[in-house]
Amino acid sequence: MNQRLMWAAVAVCLLPALAAGGCGGDGGAREGKVAARATAPARPASPPATAKPKPSPKPLPTRSVPRVDCARVQCLALTFDDGPGEHTGRLLDMLRRYDAPSTFYVLGGSAKGEERLLRRMTAEGHEIGNHTYGHPNLVELSSERIRSEIRRTQDVVRKAVGSAPRTMRPPYGSTDERVAKAVGMPQIFWRSDTRDWADRDANVVARRVLDIAAPGAVILLHDTLGSSVDAMKKVLPELKRRGYRLVTVSQLRGTKPFKPGGVYYREWG
Ligand SMILES: [Zn+2]
Repeated sequence: MNQRLMWAAVAVCLLPALAAGGCGGDGGAREGKVAARATAPARPASPPATAKPKPSPKPLPTRSVPRVDCARVQCLALTFDDGPGEHTGRLLDMLRRYDAPSTFYVLGGSAKGEERLLRRMTAEGHEIGNHTYGHPNLVELSSERIRSEIRRTQDVVRKAVGSAPRTMRPPYGSTDERVAKAVGMPQIFWRSDTRDWADRDANVVARRVLDIAAPGAVILLHDTLGSSVDAMKKVLPELKRRGYRLVTVSQLRGTKPFKPGGVYYREWG
């Protein structure tokens, strides 16, 4: 990635975000294997006679995520960071109404206890990405701490939905080569920050999203902010009207694999 752009993103994001407790990296994706989790593992027809019957796990709701050819269709990926939070359920209602698969970069610390919301995301065709456990600035942590931040969130999501995120977004968009190596996952950035954490006004946020909307764009928002969720009332119908197909980051990537540790931002297709 263009280092200058990346660090500009860090600079823009870091200080106000620290003050506001928000901001994030964005994007979302799962190494391009879009439909890999659609089926439950097969079980033997009859267990060995000696096996104790185990309580059967509650089947996870799943919905296969359709493959979309974003080279032919005008795609756009909305991404929501820092949740789940108090507004996430309302956002999911809207996304369902407009058939708008999106990507959620969740914090493990917020996701713990909100497993139902995670399952709902998966069931409704959304993608879950890793935004660390506690939203630290990763460049300030030891490699061991970075790995722990990632692993704990992978565990929370895997336990909730049966599969772990395939991509991550570094908090504050803050990363470097050492972080990339420790993270070991594709790092998903965004086309342009909506600055929804700075201007908590639904009309302002909606206008910014619609201004930066472009085919192949990954757009950064926060589902922890009621104003950003409110903005979707305008954004979703307008994007549809403009002919966009809303997709997850993995759908946007299509069959092209993400590289572990790679940095992805702006448009791709
Ligand atoms: Zn964040």
